[in-house]
Amino acid sequence: MTTDAPALGARQVVFPTAGSMDLRSTEVPEPGASDFVMRVRRVGICATDLHLFDGHIGDPFPLVPGHEFVGDVARIGADAAAARGLEVGDRIAVEMLLPCGQCSRCREGRYNICERDDPALGPAAAREYGVNISRSVEPGLWGGYADYLWVPAEAIVHRLPADLPWDVAALVEPLAVAFRAVHRGRVAPGDTVVVIGPGPVGLLMAAAAKLSGAARVVMVGTRPSRLALSTRFGADTTIDSQATTDVASAVVAALGSLADVVIEAAGVPSAQTQAATLVRRGGRVVLAGACGWTADVTFGSDRDLLTREIDVLPSFLSAGGYEPSIEALSTGAFPFDELITHRFELEEVQSAFDLVRHKKDGVVKAVLVLSD
Ligand SMILES: [Zn+2]
Ligand SMILES: [Zn+2]
Repeated sequence: MTTDAPALGARQVVFPTAGSMDLRSTEVPEPGASDFVMRVRRVGICATDLHLFDGHIGDPFPLVPGHEFVGDVARIGADAAAARGLEVGDRIAVEMLLPCGQCSRCREGRYNICERDDPALGPAAAREYGVNISRSVEPGLWGGYADYLWVPAEAIVHRLPADLPWDVAALVEPLAVAFRAVHRGRVAPGDTVVVIGPGPVGLLMAAAAKLSGAARVVMVGTRPSRLALSTRFGADTTIDSQATTDVASAVVAALGSLADVVIEAAGVPSAQTQAATLVRRGGRVVLAGACGWTADVTFGSDRDLLTREIDVLPSFLSAGGYEPSIEALSTGAFPFDELITHRFELEEVQSAFDLVRHKKDGVVKAVLVLSD
């Protein structure tokens, strides 16, 4: 590092308390030897960000939201450059979670459920959903809704191809979430897959299932426009669950039997219950939609699970999903750019939230454009 580099100033969106947001400017410190500073180019707006804003997730305030960020290396410490093989200008995606890499869960590759419990990282309440950049990293407050992001030594960083447009690159994290769910369901060539919930991640799950060899994919949802869009992302058949009295029969009509794998991405307990009724005997049900900390789900214990030996497999976040996600986005296997329906400047975040919250104007995925 040169010590005479000009100070970086960053705009950032801060949620000081539940239900309020400020646009602030902050000075970005020089990275230490093992850290770097990322210039954020795009950050996707996720339904989770709205839940954070509303105070539903239990994260301590103040915070800077945003976990779907991509950008490039702005400044990098000497040790970080050597260890990571990165230099200024390299295009990257950074995983939000900061796993320890040492615990049993990390060593088996399930770093999304890292068991690190380091008191130096803050109160236990801050770590209900794992340790991550946006909540736990000194100095300052970090998150993707900002011009710059501090990236510490333990962060997992992925290189992005230089020709991948930033807007498409912004889908790296949601597609990684989709791939994790598909992997948890052990989707294999020839399998039949039902996805419940054609939100952005559900649409990407259909694509990820196809890319993992699924023979046929059925999308179950309630909004005709989203169901139609799912056919561009790998769904062979769609079922409107509000217009269909017996969804299981509709699945059998489409596939000739119930599905090998059902992936629930709707984020409501009723969809999780339904998932177990759409899977064949001995099949796999993946629960990937977040329903809220206090939600409970009920299954037909003997009827749906026991006597049919269903594997119920929760899938949390994106561990192991970034590599196939970047590969899929690079090859352009599906028209991923069609999912980015709206782009906003950071100053317009309030209107962006309004659009996403009320699902206005046919929004699928909205992104904040920090810089081109
Ligand atoms: Zn997200
Ligand atoms: Zn760990």
